[in-house]
Amino acid sequence: MHELGLSEGVLAVALQAARGQRVERVRVRVGRLQRVAPESMEMAWRLVSEQTVAAGSHLEMVEVPLQLRCRSCGREGQAEDLVLCPDCGSSDVEVRDGDRIEVAEVELAGGEVRRNPSSTVTGKER
Ligand SMILES: [Zn+2]
Repeated sequence: MHELGLSEGVLAVALQAARGQRVERVRVRVGRLQRVAPESMEMAWRLVSEQTVAAGSHLEMVEVPLQLRCRSCGREGQAEDLVLCPDCGSSDVEVRDGDRIEVAEVELAGGEVRRNPSSTVTGKER
């Protein structure tokens, strides 16, 4: 299951950010291209976080739309999928966002929020 591997990646980032404190909530930015099924991701999260300080924490998923930029005509915008540029038909498009999973926030017991901990779980580094 794709989501299991992703959850393990998210957990590693969250645990590092928590430094042993209890984790209440983790917010992840989920790129559309990762094709994550939210229910599977929640289930996977419960599984991998068991026996850790993140057990019972809430995984909050924010879907990130696919953002493309065309290298031929410079058009930039959202797209449903990896497609040809709707303006000039070029296949030379660059993915600007929506291709990765990132940990945006880790909320600890007591309400402290750690923003953008080391961050990219999967997808292209840039
Ligand atoms: Zn174009």
